[in-house]
Amino acid sequence: MPIFYYILASIAVLLLAIVIIALVRAFSFGSQKKASAVKAEPVQVSFNKDSLAAHLANAIQCATVSDLEREKIDLAAFDQLHKTLQEDFPLIEANLEKTVLAGHNLIYRWQGTNQELDPILFMAHQDVVPADPASLDQWTQPPFSGAIVDGKIWGRGTLDVKGQMVAAMEAVEGLINAGYQPERTVYLAFGQDEEIGGTQGQKLITEHFKAQNIHFAAVMDEGGAVLESQIPGVKVPVALVGNCEKGYLTLEIKASGSGGHSSMPPAVTTIGRLARGIAYLENNPIPGIPHRVQPMFETMGKHTPFLMRLAFANMWLFNGYLKKRFESAPRMAAMIRTTTAVTIINGGVKDNVLPSEASAFVNFRLSPGDTIESVIEFVKYLVKPFDLEVKISGEHPWEASGVSDPNSPAFDHLVACIKDTFGDVAVAPYTVMGATDARYYNELSENVFRFSPIKMEGDQLGSVHNINEYITVDQFHQAVAFMSAMLQRWAQARWVE
Ligand SMILES: [Zn+2]
Repeated sequence: MPIFYYILASIAVLLLAIVIIALVRAFSFGSQKKASAVKAEPVQVSFNKDSLAAHLANAIQCATVSDLEREKIDLAAFDQLHKTLQEDFPLIEANLEKTVLAGHNLIYRWQGTNQELDPILFMAHQDVVPADPASLDQWTQPPFSGAIVDGKIWGRGTLDVKGQMVAAMEAVEGLINAGYQPERTVYLAFGQDEEIGGTQGQKLITEHFKAQNIHFAAVMDEGGAVLESQIPGVKVPVALVGNCEKGYLTLEIKASGSGGHSSMPPAVTTIGRLARGIAYLENNPIPGIPHRVQPMFETMGKHTPFLMRLAFANMWLFNGYLKKRFESAPRMAAMIRTTTAVTIINGGVKDNVLPSEASAFVNFRLSPGDTIESVIEFVKYLVKPFDLEVKISGEHPWEASGVSDPNSPAFDHLVACIKDTFGDVAVAPYTVMGATDARYYNELSENVFRFSPIKMEGDQLGSVHNINEYITVDQFHQAVAFMSAMLQRWAQARWVE
């Protein structure tokens, strides 16, 4: 046989080997997840749905509305909320140590039986966004009524996020009542200003914890929920658990030059130069890294569509394909890269005058791995040929959060508890695109997770920060049951046996 055939045969064997390896890896992708052997829930509490709904309604009626102009905030509403919680949760009031910090931040401490162990923390925020006065008449029930009608509790904060706050309180109250004692100390911390940045809320609470050298075994804050058809090709509902969140940076990019009369313009004006720079920036986005979403698809395991499993199990072969696929749609692209969004443009005052200055504001949402410094360097490098000035603008930027490990025992318990509560769902760690108070906690714990235990229906997701926010009585009951079970999982001394 001529040598030519040997080469051909060798190539065929090699290709076949690659195909076999890729398939084997695809079939075993995500299947190594082990269930925890630790007893999940020593105490089963039965909660009364009517009383749960009534307590949440009471909290909703306190209009704890945030305002960037802090002097406009109605502090009496926060006082009212504190009083309401005090009345509705007498066992917490009697048994837990309560601290009111810097205004209206609330911290509860439930001492564990073993003080050698790191404590755990459940977070939420007390404040809510306003209900837009222009669309008040579109609410089925008034936003601060807490009306309970046809199995739904209505109002601002039912989903974001008094529901989660009251659910944590209910879980603790119910467990005290049932005689349960946590091994680890349990903290609840409810900030007063998440919706306006958290600088007078969880930021101060973390400083309070740091001053006491507290390190948390695990932290849970609001975050993703259980949602239908969120990830293409995944047939079951997906519980999205934020294990990190994006950072935030706005840059002002400015072109300066000599102004003058528009009758004798230069070949390139300041506006023209700025426009070219901005176009160049958009044409050269910060590169996406498909590895960032690999844990998401790996944790979903068998629920991940086969093509995706094949690709993510064999990134040595499919990295280019995945990059292209994710970058083809804005929502998917945002998952794998730091996004670039030109949001404001300024320049010119009169139609016959050349402006001496033109500027644009560009907002970046930083993926973990990229830093404020690296993004600024990248932008400066890109716009250099256009002689543009680059500087940080407006509010303080912040870095992307740390990334909590979705292969940790803390996360395993979260997965197990989600499946116990919500049945056949896929669980996926993901990057939260917006900001939560949890970003302040990376120094205090390796296990910071963002999850809201609600299986959302139809229009609910769109009601957050919008009209007609509600939670059903059943959803709320399920959230309380989840909190009770989750607390017991994390509050035990050992997570793995
Ligand atoms: Zn919120």
